[in-house]
Amino acid sequence: MKLQIDRDRLLREIESLASISDAEAPAVTRIVFTPADLKARAWLRARCEEAGLTLRQDAIGNTFARWAGSDSKAPAVGTGSHIDAIPNAGKYDGVVGVLGGLEAMRALQQSGFRPKHSIELLVFTSEEPTRFGIGCLGSRLLSGSLSPDAAKRLKDGDSESIEEVRRKAGLRGELEEVKLPNGYYKAFIELHIEQGPLLERQQIPLGVVTHIAAPASLRVVIEGAGGHAGGVLMPDRRDALCAAAELILALETAARTSGAIDTVATVGICEVFPGAVNSIPSRVRLSADIRDTDLRRRDGVIKSMENACNAISASRQVTIHTELLNADAPAECAPEVVEALSQACRKHEQKFLLMISRAYHDSLFMSRIAPTAMLFIPCRNGYSHRPDEYASPEDIARGTLVLAETLAQLSK
Ligand SMILES: [Zn+2]
Repeated sequence: MKLQIDRDRLLREIESLASISDAEAPAVTRIVFTPADLKARAWLRARCEEAGLTLRQDAIGNTFARWAGSDSKAPAVGTGSHIDAIPNAGKYDGVVGVLGGLEAMRALQQSGFRPKHSIELLVFTSEEPTRFGIGCLGSRLLSGSLSPDAAKRLKDGDSESIEEVRRKAGLRGELEEVKLPNGYYKAFIELHIEQGPLLERQQIPLGVVTHIAAPASLRVVIEGAGGHAGGVLMPDRRDALCAAAELILALETAARTSGAIDTVATVGICEVFPGAVNSIPSRVRLSADIRDTDLRRRDGVIKSMENACNAISASRQVTIHTELLNADAPAECAPEVVEALSQACRKHEQKFLLMISRAYHDSLFMSRIAPTAMLFIPCRNGYSHRPDEYASPEDIARGTLVLAETLAQLSK
């Protein structure tokens, strides 16, 4: 089997897809089920049909393009990613995994390889949370991580429900039919740009992902007592911002002392009410984002934060209300898929790094229903979700080659 990646065609296709956008080049904006997204989907389906793949679309718009294997009863080997893009994003996030996946399949076809297990390209709907406020909508439904009823309650910024929006986009069927049956995939692989700087910094062209970190996010509201900045003396104060400061530092300490470098915690929002120089803060709203590759350790940090809330509310006479908005479990990638990727790297004499995905992806949810791993390629300066996001043609082609090799090994 001689595998040859048509790099020029792949790069041309990445450019073509980038041109279907609501932002001026080089920026890409493609929000799920907008005319730009629908046009991009149609363009992509045409490319899959040209490659002789059989297309299927489910009720949420996840798109499956299948190259049938010789054993129709054997579970498929899947690969794919997403083509939606946040406002003012770049060309490569998600797209490399979709068009690279398609090119890997075409390269296998041209090499004369014939799979036993079907090989399937999967394009997920709405990996980005832009429209409905929740990321990985398609893969959550595919994996049963989000119930159809919960999905139906989601609305976009114009108060249009998912049901309305997807029907307008021409999608038929019921959300209840989206979940994949058990054992549908023998393995799933997502090729993706790293979205971090490690591969570039270490000058290693490929990353094989062993763990995918996942965030828990919380909203915290602290209520104290306001008053005049001159009139209320210090012993009488119940300053909500001072309580918030203590809580933020307690969270930092909890993450720093978790025992692992993989624990991270961030307070990115701090809204102070009433927000005047001569007024004691009476109310503060905070966000907290806590991530780890280990669920127990991450939830341990949440517990420490709750303990700190109790202690601070007692000592400062404030009330602290926390609300857990989201807490997806991190994933460990499947050892057999990690090994298949590693072997493919070795076979093509490519150096690779075993690494952790700090961002989460559709693979986080796919890992709940299929043996899953990810393959990373470097991106310049680690930049992503911005117009100057860049991955080199060599790196894209290399990732695609290793993906093709891995798909071949797993589908034999
Ligand atoms: Zn992505």
